[in-house]
Amino acid sequence: MTGSGPETAAERRRGGSAAGPQQRGTGARALFRELTGGDAAGVWSAPGRVNLIGEHTDYNEGFVLPFAIDRRTAVAAAPRADGLLRVVSTFGDGPVELPVAELGRAHAAGELRGWSAYPLGVAWALGEFGADLSAVPGADLAIDSSVPVGAGLSSSAAIESAVALALTELWGLELSRETLAKVGQRAENDAVGAPTGIMDQSASLLGERDAAVFLDCRSLAAEVVPLGFAEAGLVLRVIDTGVRHEHATGGYRERRASCEAGAAALGVPALRDLEVADLDRARELLDDITFRRVKHVVTEDRRVLDTVRTLRADGAAAIGPLLDASHVSMRDDFEISVPELDVAVAAARAAGAVGARMTGGGFGGAAIALVPAEAVPALSAEVEKAFAARGFAPPAQFTVVPSDGAHRDP
Ligand code: ADP
Ligand code: MG
Repeated sequence: MTGSGPETAAERRRGGSAAGPQQRGTGARALFRELTGGDAAGVWSAPGRVNLIGEHTDYNEGFVLPFAIDRRTAVAAAPRADGLLRVVSTFGDGPVELPVAELGRAHAAGELRGWSAYPLGVAWALGEFGADLSAVPGADLAIDSSVPVGAGLSSSAAIESAVALALTELWGLELSRETLAKVGQRAENDAVGAPTGIMDQSASLLGERDAAVFLDCRSLAAEVVPLGFAEAGLVLRVIDTGVRHEHATGGYRERRASCEAGAAALGVPALRDLEVADLDRARELLDDITFRRVKHVVTEDRRVLDTVRTLRADGAAAIGPLLDASHVSMRDDFEISVPELDVAVAAARAAGAVGARMTGGGFGGAAIALVPAEAVPALSAEVEKAFAARGFAPPAQFTVVPSDGAHRDP
């Protein structure tokens, strides 16, 4: 494995984070030429995602409603004749190279590390889902992205999904998009070592313009649900608090353990199997903390179903109270919010958002606000003011548009 100089990597990082959605593809093609001296056979790209509603429901085998956003990771790629896999990214240093025939050994030896564990892990995981990697020629992959890394918009699923689709088409593999979502999840769980569900990859691979992906995390059945934000005169703002807590991973594990304990005590395979009406019994059987964890998950599943029904029956403007209730549940019952997220949500609501909530795993990260287009400037100002008043660093605020899932770029 080889690495380029630190200056190059730093410059590339700056370039990568500044790239806007409209630049997708061009950075990857240029990087590919830098890597190989030739042109890519094609560019494949996949989006990051925002979860509209359904938090900590995935590992409880419940429901989530994410959508693909207009920030994408692009992979310029071409096959190689010599069985070598080479990856380079505007974000990471590199290039990193490994023979395809070595993927299994390198994975077993724990040698897939750092950012390249994502693309190389995906290549390895394709073999775990039935692809015959002994028959493929190798590939050069050059990666560029406009998805901010580590901001809760799932740059990880974007890189996994883009690489999975690029290699599948480049190597002529026959794997469905549902399978590619599992490939990305396997890479992230086993090669990178991050315990994540399948929501992010499903949104990135199955998303469609102006729509969300309604995913049943037990059956993995996915349905595309039109959002109609634009028709309703609404935009979705992301308020990234910039807060990243050390204890996020520990907190995630603890919440997961509480949910499993709650399900076991109530005699169901997963919290998905409980209804809101079962909560009275749960309150009697469980200690207060476990009860409140269970209550969040059971009511959040209900809110996802209600959001889907409301979107279909009454349109996007009517889902605000469900977003608000989701936030309160995460703040008071699941206890995964932080003051910055609560201030962002309160300020957004005060400035005219129809609904707002923290999104993602919690302990920091971003809030989302669904807001009339004309209220966006007032909302930005109100959030800035509220953060300044509390002595918080100013958050990054931007609009995301529900967009197409992974595809080959024209
Ligand atoms: P998030 O998914 O919220 O952005 P994660 O920690 O799950 O944050 O994933 C971020 C990691 O994924 C990065 O640290 C890096 O290792 C990898 N990654 C994401 N995008 C890219 C990219 N364009 N190039 C290289 N690595 C990337
Ligand atoms: Mg991620």
